[in-house]
Amino acid sequence: MYNLDGKIALVTGGSRGIGKAIAKRLASEGATIVINYMRNEEAANETKKEIEDAGGQATLSKFDVSDFDAVHESVDKIIENHQGLHILINNAGITKDTLLMRMKEEDWDNVMSINLKGIFNCTKAVTRNMLKQRGGRIVNLTSVVGEMGNAGQSNYAASKAGIIGFTKACAREMAPRGITVNAVSPGFIQTDITDQLTEELKKDYISRIPMDRFGTTKDIAGAVAFLTSDDASYITGEVFRVNGGIYT
Ligand code: NAP
Repeated sequence: MYNLDGKIALVTGGSRGIGKAIAKRLASEGATIVINYMRNEEAANETKKEIEDAGGQATLSKFDVSDFDAVHESVDKIIENHQGLHILINNAGITKDTLLMRMKEEDWDNVMSINLKGIFNCTKAVTRNMLKQRGGRIVNLTSVVGEMGNAGQSNYAASKAGIIGFTKACAREMAPRGITVNAVSPGFIQTDITDQLTEELKKDYISRIPMDRFGTTKDIAGAVAFLTSDDASYITGEVFRVNGGIYT
Protein backbone atom coordinates (compact mmCIF):
# COMPACT_ATOMS: atom_id res chain seq x y z
CA MET A 1 0.00 0.00 0.00
CA TYR A 2 1.12 3.57 -0.72
CA ASN A 3 -0.07 6.52 1.28
CA LEU A 4 -1.81 9.07 -0.97
CA ASP A 5 -3.92 10.59 1.82
CA GLY A 6 -4.71 14.25 1.13
CA LYS A 7 -3.61 14.06 -2.51
CA ILE A 8 -5.87 15.23 -5.34
CA ALA A 9 -5.52 13.14 -8.52
CA LEU A 10 -6.95 13.97 -11.95
CA VAL A 11 -7.34 10.88 -14.16
CA THR A 12 -8.18 11.75 -17.76
CA GLY A 13 -10.43 9.14 -19.34
CA GLY A 14 -10.92 7.81 -15.83
CA SER A 15 -14.43 6.51 -16.45
CA ARG A 16 -13.68 3.28 -18.32
CA GLY A 17 -11.02 0.66 -19.01
CA ILE A 18 -7.49 1.29 -17.77
CA GLY A 19 -8.34 4.79 -16.49
CA LYS A 20 -11.11 3.38 -14.32
CA ALA A 21 -8.75 0.82 -12.75
CA ILE A 22 -6.21 3.60 -12.09
CA ALA A 23 -8.88 5.84 -10.54
CA LYS A 24 -10.05 3.02 -8.24
CA ARG A 25 -6.52 2.06 -7.24
CA LEU A 26 -5.42 5.63 -6.43
CA ALA A 27 -8.66 6.13 -4.45
CA SER A 28 -7.93 2.94 -2.48
CA GLU A 29 -4.52 4.47 -1.59
CA GLY A 30 -6.30 7.51 -0.11
CA ALA A 31 -6.27 10.04 -2.99
CA THR A 32 -9.36 12.10 -3.87
CA ILE A 33 -10.04 11.38 -7.53
CA VAL A 34 -11.27 13.73 -10.23
CA ILE A 35 -12.62 11.48 -12.97
CA ASN A 36 -12.45 13.10 -16.39
CA TYR A 37 -14.52 11.74 -19.26
CA MET A 38 -15.94 13.05 -22.52
CA ARG A 39 -19.16 11.34 -23.59
CA ASN A 40 -20.22 8.40 -21.47
CA GLU A 41 -21.70 9.99 -18.34
CA GLU A 42 -23.23 6.71 -17.16
CA ALA A 43 -19.82 5.01 -17.04
CA ALA A 44 -18.32 8.01 -15.23
CA ASN A 45 -21.09 7.95 -12.61
CA GLU A 46 -20.67 4.19 -12.16
CA THR A 47 -16.91 4.61 -11.53
CA LYS A 48 -17.61 7.41 -9.02
CA LYS A 49 -20.15 5.20 -7.24
CA GLU A 50 -17.75 2.23 -7.09
CA ILE A 51 -15.07 4.45 -5.52
CA GLU A 52 -17.52 5.89 -2.98
CA ASP A 53 -18.98 2.47 -2.14
CA ALA A 54 -15.43 1.35 -1.32
CA GLY A 55 -15.04 4.31 1.07
CA GLY A 56 -13.14 6.62 -1.30
CA GLN A 57 -13.78 10.11 -2.64
CA ALA A 58 -14.39 11.11 -6.25
CA THR A 59 -15.83 13.91 -8.35
CA LEU A 60 -16.49 14.17 -12.09
CA SER A 61 -15.09 16.63 -14.62
CA LYS A 62 -16.35 16.47 -18.19
CA PHE A 63 -14.06 17.95 -20.84
CA ASP A 64 -12.41 17.10 -24.12
CA VAL A 65 -8.65 16.77 -23.53
CA SER A 66 -7.97 18.00 -27.07
CA ASP A 67 -9.69 21.36 -26.40
CA PHE A 68 -7.02 23.72 -25.01
CA ASP A 69 -9.43 26.29 -23.53
CA ALA A 70 -11.83 23.71 -22.05
CA VAL A 71 -8.93 21.88 -20.38
CA HIS A 72 -7.54 25.07 -18.83
CA GLU A 73 -10.96 26.22 -17.61
CA SER A 74 -11.73 22.80 -16.08
CA VAL A 75 -8.32 22.36 -14.45
CA ASP A 76 -8.49 25.86 -12.94
CA LYS A 77 -11.89 24.96 -11.44
CA ILE A 78 -10.53 21.66 -10.07
CA ILE A 79 -7.58 23.44 -8.44
CA GLU A 80 -9.88 26.08 -6.96
CA ASN A 81 -12.42 23.55 -5.62
CA HIS A 82 -9.82 21.22 -4.13
CA GLN A 83 -7.20 23.83 -3.24
CA GLY A 84 -4.55 22.06 -5.26
CA LEU A 85 -3.79 19.21 -7.61
CA HIS A 86 -0.97 16.79 -6.87
CA ILE A 87 -1.28 13.97 -9.39
CA LEU A 88 -2.11 14.02 -13.10
CA ILE A 89 -2.66 10.76 -14.96
CA ASN A 90 -2.77 11.44 -18.71
CA ASN A 91 -4.69 8.34 -19.72
CA ALA A 92 -7.40 9.42 -22.23
CA GLY A 93 -6.65 7.99 -25.64
CA ILE A 94 -8.28 6.66 -28.80
CA THR A 95 -7.43 4.53 -31.83
CA LYS A 96 -8.48 4.99 -35.46
CA ASP A 97 -6.74 1.97 -36.96
CA THR A 98 -6.27 1.43 -40.66
CA LEU A 99 -3.41 0.85 -43.07
CA LEU A 100 -1.60 4.04 -44.08
CA MET A 101 -2.84 3.63 -47.68
CA ARG A 102 -6.42 3.99 -46.44
CA MET A 103 -5.84 6.44 -43.59
CA LYS A 104 -7.77 9.69 -43.92
CA GLU A 105 -6.37 13.01 -42.79
CA GLU A 106 -9.01 13.15 -40.06
CA ASP A 107 -7.96 9.70 -38.73
CA TRP A 108 -4.46 11.12 -38.26
CA ASP A 109 -5.62 14.48 -36.84
CA ASN A 110 -8.11 12.98 -34.35
CA VAL A 111 -5.62 10.56 -32.89
CA MET A 112 -2.85 13.15 -32.66
CA SER A 113 -5.08 15.80 -31.11
CA ILE A 114 -6.56 13.56 -28.41
CA ASN A 115 -3.55 11.32 -27.66
CA LEU A 116 -0.68 13.80 -28.00
CA LYS A 117 -2.03 17.35 -27.92
CA GLY A 118 -4.35 16.23 -25.10
CA ILE A 119 -1.31 15.41 -22.97
CA PHE A 120 0.28 18.78 -23.80
CA ASN A 121 -2.97 20.56 -22.87
CA CYS A 122 -3.47 18.79 -19.54
CA THR A 123 0.18 18.90 -18.49
CA LYS A 124 0.46 22.60 -19.31
CA ALA A 125 -2.74 23.30 -17.39
CA VAL A 126 -1.49 21.67 -14.15
CA THR A 127 2.12 22.82 -14.32
CA ARG A 128 1.86 26.32 -12.82
CA ASN A 129 0.16 24.95 -9.71
CA MET A 130 2.61 22.04 -9.34
CA LEU A 131 5.61 24.36 -9.76
CA LYS A 132 4.19 26.63 -7.05
CA GLN A 133 3.54 23.62 -4.80
CA ARG A 134 7.11 22.46 -5.50
CA GLY A 135 5.92 18.94 -6.07
CA GLY A 136 3.71 16.72 -8.15
CA ARG A 137 3.42 13.49 -10.05
CA ILE A 138 2.59 13.16 -13.75
CA VAL A 139 2.12 9.76 -15.39
CA ASN A 140 1.47 9.49 -19.14
CA LEU A 141 -0.01 6.39 -20.75
CA THR A 142 1.98 5.43 -23.82
CA SER A 143 1.89 1.97 -25.46
CA VAL A 144 4.10 -0.88 -26.61
CA VAL A 145 2.87 0.10 -30.09
CA GLY A 146 4.67 3.45 -29.73
CA GLU A 147 7.89 1.55 -28.99
CA MET A 148 7.78 -1.29 -31.53
CA GLY A 149 5.18 -0.19 -34.11
CA ASN A 150 2.20 -2.18 -35.39
CA ALA A 151 0.74 -2.46 -38.88
CA GLY A 152 -2.48 -0.48 -39.21
CA GLN A 153 -1.62 1.86 -36.33
CA SER A 154 0.80 4.44 -37.80
CA ASN A 155 -1.20 7.35 -36.34
CA TYR A 156 -1.52 5.71 -32.91
CA ALA A 157 2.15 4.61 -32.86
CA ALA A 158 3.29 8.14 -33.77
CA SER A 159 1.16 9.67 -31.02
CA LYS A 160 2.41 7.20 -28.42
CA ALA A 161 6.06 7.59 -29.46
CA GLY A 162 5.54 11.36 -29.20
CA ILE A 163 4.35 10.91 -25.63
CA ILE A 164 7.68 9.30 -24.75
CA GLY A 165 9.67 12.30 -26.05
CA PHE A 166 7.30 14.71 -24.31
CA THR A 167 7.64 12.77 -21.04
CA LYS A 168 11.44 12.87 -21.12
CA ALA A 169 11.59 16.60 -21.95
CA CYS A 170 9.08 17.53 -19.22
CA ALA A 171 10.92 15.32 -16.71
CA ARG A 172 14.09 17.35 -17.28
CA GLU A 173 12.24 20.69 -17.05
CA MET A 174 10.36 19.88 -13.88
CA ALA A 175 12.84 17.79 -11.87
CA PRO A 176 14.36 20.79 -10.07
CA ARG A 177 10.92 21.57 -8.59
CA GLY A 178 10.28 18.06 -7.29
CA ILE A 179 7.81 17.09 -10.01
CA THR A 180 8.30 13.66 -11.57
CA VAL A 181 7.08 12.87 -15.08
CA ASN A 182 7.02 9.24 -16.20
CA ALA A 183 5.34 7.12 -18.84
CA VAL A 184 3.71 3.73 -18.37
CA SER A 185 3.77 1.57 -21.47
CA PRO A 186 1.17 -1.21 -21.45
CA GLY A 187 1.37 -4.20 -23.76
CA PHE A 188 -1.86 -5.95 -24.77
CA ILE A 189 -4.35 -5.43 -21.98
CA GLN A 190 -7.65 -7.23 -21.54
CA THR A 191 -10.36 -4.60 -22.14
CA ASP A 192 -13.64 -4.30 -24.06
CA ILE A 193 -11.55 -4.15 -27.25
CA THR A 194 -9.62 -7.39 -26.69
CA ASP A 195 -12.84 -9.09 -25.51
CA GLN A 196 -14.27 -8.51 -28.99
CA LEU A 197 -11.41 -10.32 -30.80
CA THR A 198 -12.11 -13.76 -32.27
CA GLU A 199 -10.72 -16.71 -30.29
CA GLU A 200 -8.24 -17.32 -33.12
CA LEU A 201 -6.87 -13.75 -33.00
CA LYS A 202 -6.71 -13.84 -29.18
CA LYS A 203 -4.64 -17.06 -29.37
CA ASP A 204 -2.37 -15.50 -31.99
CA TYR A 205 -1.70 -12.39 -29.86
CA ILE A 206 -1.19 -14.42 -26.68
CA SER A 207 1.27 -16.77 -28.41
CA ARG A 208 3.55 -13.74 -28.90
CA ILE A 209 3.51 -12.75 -25.20
CA PRO A 210 6.20 -14.55 -23.12
CA MET A 211 3.93 -14.48 -20.06
CA ASP A 212 1.27 -16.27 -22.09
CA ARG A 213 -1.64 -14.00 -21.17
CA PHE A 214 -3.04 -10.54 -21.78
CA GLY A 215 -2.29 -8.01 -19.05
CA THR A 216 -5.08 -6.77 -16.81
CA THR A 217 -6.13 -3.20 -16.09
CA LYS A 218 -5.03 -3.90 -12.49
CA ASP A 219 -1.49 -4.66 -13.70
CA ILE A 220 -1.35 -1.15 -15.18
CA ALA A 221 -2.99 0.52 -12.18
CA GLY A 222 -0.38 -1.04 -9.87
CA ALA A 223 2.50 0.43 -11.88
CA VAL A 224 0.84 3.84 -12.00
CA ALA A 225 0.18 3.81 -8.25
CA PHE A 226 3.83 3.03 -7.56
CA LEU A 227 4.97 5.95 -9.75
CA THR A 228 2.69 8.37 -7.86
CA SER A 229 4.00 7.24 -4.48
CA ASP A 230 6.85 8.51 -2.28
CA ASP A 231 8.70 5.27 -3.05
CA ALA A 232 9.17 6.56 -6.63
CA SER A 233 10.41 10.03 -5.70
CA TYR A 234 13.80 9.56 -7.45
CA ILE A 235 12.31 8.10 -10.65
CA THR A 236 11.64 10.51 -13.51
CA GLY A 237 11.73 10.45 -17.33
CA GLU A 238 11.26 6.66 -17.28
CA VAL A 239 9.22 4.50 -19.62
CA PHE A 240 7.85 1.83 -17.31
CA ARG A 241 6.93 -1.23 -19.39
CA VAL A 242 4.07 -3.44 -18.27
CA ASN A 243 3.85 -5.82 -21.18
CA GLY A 244 4.40 -9.44 -20.09
CA GLY A 245 7.79 -9.45 -21.85
CA ILE A 246 6.54 -8.88 -25.40
CA TYR A 247 8.99 -5.99 -25.87
CA THR A 248 12.01 -5.45 -23.64
P1 NAP B 1 -10.96 2.99 -23.32
O1 NAP B 1 -11.46 1.80 -22.57
O2 NAP B 1 -11.38 3.18 -24.73
O3 NAP B 1 -11.35 4.32 -22.49
C1 NAP B 1 -11.00 5.57 -23.01
C2 NAP B 1 -11.28 6.63 -21.97
O4 NAP B 1 -10.85 7.88 -22.50
C3 NAP B 1 -12.75 6.79 -21.65
O5 NAP B 1 -12.88 7.14 -20.30
C4 NAP B 1 -13.18 7.95 -22.54
O6 NAP B 1 -14.29 8.68 -22.03
C5 NAP B 1 -11.94 8.80 -22.50
N1 NAP B 1 -11.80 9.71 -23.65
C6 NAP B 1 -11.73 9.42 -24.96
N2 NAP B 1 -11.57 10.54 -25.69
C7 NAP B 1 -11.52 11.58 -24.79
C8 NAP B 1 -11.36 12.98 -24.91
N3 NAP B 1 -11.21 13.57 -26.11
N4 NAP B 1 -11.37 13.72 -23.79
C9 NAP B 1 -11.51 13.16 -22.57
N5 NAP B 1 -11.66 11.83 -22.39
C10 NAP B 1 -11.66 11.05 -23.49
O7 NAP B 1 -9.35 3.04 -23.33
P2 NAP B 1 -8.30 2.02 -22.66
O8 NAP B 1 -8.17 0.82 -23.53
O9 NAP B 1 -8.61 1.86 -21.22
O10 NAP B 1 -6.92 2.85 -22.83
C11 NAP B 1 -6.53 3.85 -21.88
C12 NAP B 1 -5.15 4.35 -22.27
O11 NAP B 1 -4.21 3.26 -22.28
C13 NAP B 1 -5.10 4.97 -23.67
O12 NAP B 1 -4.20 6.06 -23.66
C14 NAP B 1 -4.54 3.83 -24.52
O13 NAP B 1 -3.89 4.30 -25.66
C15 NAP B 1 -3.57 3.19 -23.54
N6 NAP B 1 -3.28 1.78 -23.86
C16 NAP B 1 -4.26 0.84 -23.90
C17 NAP B 1 -3.96 -0.50 -24.19
C18 NAP B 1 -5.00 -1.58 -24.21
O14 NAP B 1 -4.65 -2.74 -24.51
N7 NAP B 1 -6.26 -1.28 -23.90
C19 NAP B 1 -2.63 -0.84 -24.48
C20 NAP B 1 -1.65 0.15 -24.46
C21 NAP B 1 -1.99 1.46 -24.13
P3 NAP B 1 -15.76 8.60 -22.74
O15 NAP B 1 -16.16 7.16 -22.67
O16 NAP B 1 -16.61 9.50 -21.92
O17 NAP B 1 -15.58 9.08 -24.15
